[in-house]
Amino acid sequence: MAKAIYQPKGRAKEYGDYAINIYTGCPHRCYYCFAPSVLHKDREEFHSHVEPRKGIVEAVKRQLEAERITSKLIHLCFTCDPYPVGIDTIPTREIIKAIKESGNHVQILTKGGREAGRDFDLLDEFDWFGITFTGDCDKEPMAASGAERMDTLCEAWRRGIQTWVSCEPVFVPELIYSLIAHGDFIDKFKIGKLNYYTSNINWGEFGRKCEKLCKEYGRNYYIKEDLRKEMECDA
Ligand code: SF4
Repeated sequence: MAKAIYQPKGRAKEYGDYAINIYTGCPHRCYYCFAPSVLHKDREEFHSHVEPRKGIVEAVKRQLEAERITSKLIHLCFTCDPYPVGIDTIPTREIIKAIKESGNHVQILTKGGREAGRDFDLLDEFDWFGITFTGDCDKEPMAASGAERMDTLCEAWRRGIQTWVSCEPVFVPELIYSLIAHGDFIDKFKIGKLNYYTSNINWGEFGRKCEKLCKEYGRNYYIKEDLRKEMECDA
């Protein structure tokens, strides 16, 4: 197995300096999912045969110890979801435990909904719990509903865990504007665009409006590089 804990490159680097991919695939069937192409896997196989990567928990523990990795923020996950709906997610819990016991912190990104709340007892104010919010859950047919994701995010916030939302890809700008205006329980917004698919959205305008709203409502935010370029080129 390639290193269990790795340093992401390219666009993924905007999400974190270290990451772990726990599962072989993801059952959520988001129509825009890039993971099968990144992994050079058949799309149907990726969505239908999902299990923990062989030996992943032990590999993480070994690497944390051998490389004395500490005080890092480790992202879960890029090429899968740490809480795949309908799959045994105990390996996620075991990996979070190992990360925390070694003095590191986690940054979770999921569309898995309330299942993730099971592990909130392991997290503290140095960890980040995040959900993806695209504005169109129909494009993520097997993931938890938007309402369930939002409820889980609120629960994390009530428990003192830092919360974040990845607004990418974006399908309905108005819903992102509304989330910025009303998301008092969100500690950080990461805002991107829709890549690889055509869209009628004017990205420059979208990005500028998001930034204006974030400033107006005092939100902590990060505009992803692809969107920032669009904002700059037609400003
Ligand atoms: S949740 Fe992420 S990994 Fe899973 S299908 Fe959707 S985009 Fe792909």
